[in-house]
Amino acid sequence: MNSQVFYIIVAMMFASATLSIIFFIAWKTMGEKPHALSWSLGFLGATCQWFLNLISGVFPSHEAYWLTVNAFALILITLGIRGHCQRTDCQRLPENLWPFAALVYAAIVWTTVVDPHTGFRMALVPAAAAGTLFLSALMIIRHREASRPAEWAAASAMVVFGLTQGIAAGMAVLQGPVGDEAYLSLYVHYNFLTLPAGYMAMGMFVIFMLASDISEQMKEIAVRDELTGLLNRRGFNDQAAAAFAQARRSDLPVSVVMADIDRFKFINDEYGHATGDTALEHFANVLNSGRRANDILARVGGEEFALIVPGTELRAAMQIANELRAKIDSQPMLLDGENLPMTASFGVATISAKDSCMSDIIVRADRALYRSKRAGRNQVDLESSQMLRATDGSLKPVTI
Ligand code: GH3
Ligand code: MG
Ligand code: MG
Repeated sequence: MNSQVFYIIVAMMFASATLSIIFFIAWKTMGEKPHALSWSLGFLGATCQWFLNLISGVFPSHEAYWLTVNAFALILITLGIRGHCQRTDCQRLPENLWPFAALVYAAIVWTTVVDPHTGFRMALVPAAAAGTLFLSALMIIRHREASRPAEWAAASAMVVFGLTQGIAAGMAVLQGPVGDEAYLSLYVHYNFLTLPAGYMAMGMFVIFMLASDISEQMKEIAVRDELTGLLNRRGFNDQAAAAFAQARRSDLPVSVVMADIDRFKFINDEYGHATGDTALEHFANVLNSGRRANDILARVGGEEFALIVPGTELRAAMQIANELRAKIDSQPMLLDGENLPMTASFGVATISAKDSCMSDIIVRADRALYRSKRAGRNQVDLESSQMLRATDGSLKPVTI
């Protein structure tokens, strides 16, 4: 082994060990995500592979060396794509990965000892790497509707690295069955030019993607209510502001329905806090069950919930609130086989020309909610300024 090759292999060995340690720490400290462990073990396999390259002289034959080193390379390739399957929840691929690796290994054994072919035996691992890198990139991009920049970066790095590996496989094949010296030299030079850069870029972008997953998870935790899984007040405020701006832009109405469980303190006092929590979950599920895709539902206080219904004027919003009220009333919570009746009061308000933000509408919906409470609970009301007195003296909602 000449000295440049020696230094490159040592660098690759330490890079692999570093990546293995990083993914191991990520696995241990960031919620034991299985993909982080797969990647850690994969790069551990790669560390062994580069180490064996350094001590190739101890093997009894070149064939024994080749078969051992390639087994470790296939471990990295298989665990690498397996990690991407785990991260993106891909169901179909995982059970086919190890049989695929076994097939590639069988082909390596065949072209090394049974029917030796230098070109093919050297092309198999880079070809498998190219294929799995392309598939992994596809998995990352198809995982969600709008991929994050870190995902685009990781997928792009994989496609570029996959392309260089595909070209390496092609160059290997050019050596032919007995190994043309000129092509071998070209292959080695090309590989040592592209492999370390592609390998490190891919590793770093995948670490970056893992970090962006964690940051996204933190953001999600910050805007979710732990008990009900609905948005909390912080998440609600962000989405409410966006919904208000959208309503102003599109000149469409937007309404707010505020809901508050009636005499909830009694449920807590009578059945205990844990039952109170279950009642909150039940209430949230009932509210959530009829929610349309762009409606915004949140738990904005202890037993107080808010629903923003974009594109909906006052009358339709009143109808939604009435349906929810009836649903709560008719779907009591089951407690030890017995029904625990629960009702709620609602307040509704709609955007008006004077409103400058969603809070203006929420304040009116809140006022309406307290009118419902004062009027005896288990009912829906709307804010008085948005009502007209009809000829018979009754109050009717203004048609926007
Ligand atoms: P009203 O009909 O006027 O709304 O009466 P209420 O008893 O529902 O209202 P009040 O505001 O007096 O009581 C609300 C109770 O909700 C008091 C508080 O202990 C309870 N609460 C707030 N958050 C939680 C929670 O996360 N879990 C449980 N179990 N109770 C909660
Ligand atoms: Mg209440
Ligand atoms: Mg309350």
